[in-house]
Formats: sequence, C-alpha cells, structure tokens
Amino acid sequence: ATPTALLVGTGRGAQLGILIKGPEVLESSRTIDAVVLDKTGTVTTGSMRLTAVHSAQGAEVTSDGDRTKVDHAEADGQLLRLAGALEAFSEHPIARAVAAAARETHGVRSGSLPEVEDFRSHQGRGVSGRVDGRKVAVGRRSFLTECSVELPSEVLDMSAAVERDGRTPVMVAVDGSFAGVLIVADAVKETSPEAVAQLRELGLMPVLLTGDNAGTAQRVAEEVGIAEVIAEALPEDKVEAVKRLQRQGRTVAMVGDGVNDAAALAQSDLGIAMGAGTDVAIDAADITIIRGDLRSVADAVRLSRKTFTTIR
Ligand code: ADP
Ligand code: MG
Repeated sequence: ATPTALLVGTGRGAQLGILIKGPEVLESSRTIDAVVLDKTGTVTTGSMRLTAVHSAQGAEVTSDGDRTKVDHAEADGQLLRLAGALEAFSEHPIARAVAAAARETHGVRSGSLPEVEDFRSHQGRGVSGRVDGRKVAVGRRSFLTECSVELPSEVLDMSAAVERDGRTPVMVAVDGSFAGVLIVADAVKETSPEAVAQLRELGLMPVLLTGDNAGTAQRVAEEVGIAEVIAEALPEDKVEAVKRLQRQGRTVAMVGDGVNDAAALAQSDLGIAMGAGTDVAIDAADITIIRGDLRSVADAVRLSRKTFTTIR
C-alpha cells in the first residue's frame, strides 16, 4: 500500500471510531484469521450487578421460625459489608458491583464502610485483606481453596446451578472459614451477537477467553454464537491460549479491556483495546475501539482489506 492509501485508511478508521496506532497496523489486520474475545467488559457490558447474597451463617439459622429471617438478613448484610469494604479497593467489574451494593445498604445509612488493612489484589483470582480486624478473602473458588478454605459441598452444587444460569458465584471467607457466596450477573452487549456473525462472515474464527467459570462462559458463548471457549484462564493462561493458537499457525487478534488481559493483548498479532478499558490495555494494543462495540472489530478488518486491495 502507498503511504497515501495508508493515511486514508487510518483517517477513515478514526471516522468509524477505530483508533489505529500506526499505518503498519492496517497491514497486520489484513492477515488475522482468529479473533480471541475476552468475556467480561468485551463481549458483555462488564457492568455487573449483585443479584443475591447467601451467607453461611444465615443458612444455618433458617430452621427456627420467624426470628431466623431477621438473623438471615443480618448475616447477609454483615457478609456484604465485609466483602464490599475490601472490594472498594479493586477495579474489577465484580468488585465494583459488590462495593456498590455494600455502599447502598450500609455506607449511606451508617456513614462509611469499615476500615481495611493489608489489602491485596490477586490478579484473576480475587482480593484479600483485614476488615474490622478480621481476615477476609473474596474471589473465585480456586482462590479460596488456595487460601486453605474448605467449601461445603452444598455450596459447590449451588454454584454449579448459578453458573449454568450464566451468573457468577463469588466466594467469601472470613478468618479462614467459608462465610458465604455473593452472586453477580453481567449482560451480553446488544451488539455482540451481530458482531460475532460479521467476524464469521469475514472468515475469522471467534474464540471466547475468560477467567470466569466454564458454565458461565458456555452460556455467554451460546448467546453470541461462539463455538470455541477457553474458561477459568488465569492471566498467564490467557497469554498461553494466544500462543497456542499462534503455534497452530493462526494469526491472532485479541480484544480485551485490560483487566487481567493486558499481557495477552501484547502477545497477540493484533491487540485491540476497548475504549472504555484501562490505560494498560490502550498502551498494549495496536487498535483502540472507542465505542466498545465489537462490530468495530469487523469494521477494522474490512477497512484494512479495502486499503490493501484498492491500491493494487
Ligand atoms: P474475565 O476473563 O471474565 O475478564 P478475570 O480474569 O478478570 O475475568 O477474573 C477471573 C475470575 O476471578 C472472576 O470470574 C472472579 O471469579 C475472580 N475474580 C477476579 N478478581 C476478583 C475480585 N476483585 N473480586 C472477586 N472475584 C474476582
Ligand atoms: Mg476482563
């Protein structure tokens, strides 16, 4: 392509809400044949809501009469208060949902959430710290297991059902013991199914990649029409998933928001950041899609193909 054609292509991209880092990026867009899509915040809106709280303590007291209902609510409230205080320090979509719900039920009425010490964020796993002097951990099942917390079998059954329904169970431990489950839900972006259909029409293989559990991932994949699913991937597994596709001879575009996927974005042949994503994502990416609409990924591929055919 001539420098002029590339400039025109880049300019046209900007009009379409596709910010291209340099003219050479248009060339790599032309050759990709697989598109790896991060789930949370990319295929889904990423603005999660807390839909239920199940405290272990509340469940234990449900057996005796009316008073237990109050205890139940109190125990659930206390669980949310501890988890929310901790999650207020994380920028993960799950954390935002939990912290917002805790603020609504506790913060506003009682002034503020409890104090947090020793906060730690464990990438793609969860968060931990001391809240009100108690040791609290919030995160995926395997994170609590790593922290030597035993999860009751009823809880595992319940979370499997929640996952099949496309929602995400988040485990909470207090002082080393299982304390309850918070359930969060996210919605598929309205434009995602059509975007996936367009990628297929362009001959690209879509792949859903997520740190979330397999049940939830499968449900979202079905909703948007993706057959290839890689779930329960830690940030380092996401990089490995991209490498594996590359070893299979694929030229891989990776689309993400930078929350636990910046390294995978950098590893891909064409990194695409969601505009509403983090600064890390935008730095690691070759293209930024400013409207967060996945159809822009198909637009970018069409644009590069057009740029390179017109000039021949
Ligand atoms: P995704 O690939 O869908 O963007 P992530 O890699 O960001 O997911 O996170 C993977 C999983 O780790 C989440 O589904 C959740 O179970 C757990 N997790 C990560 N961060 C947090 C957090 N701050 N609070 C609770 N759970 C978390
Ligand atoms: Mg993510």
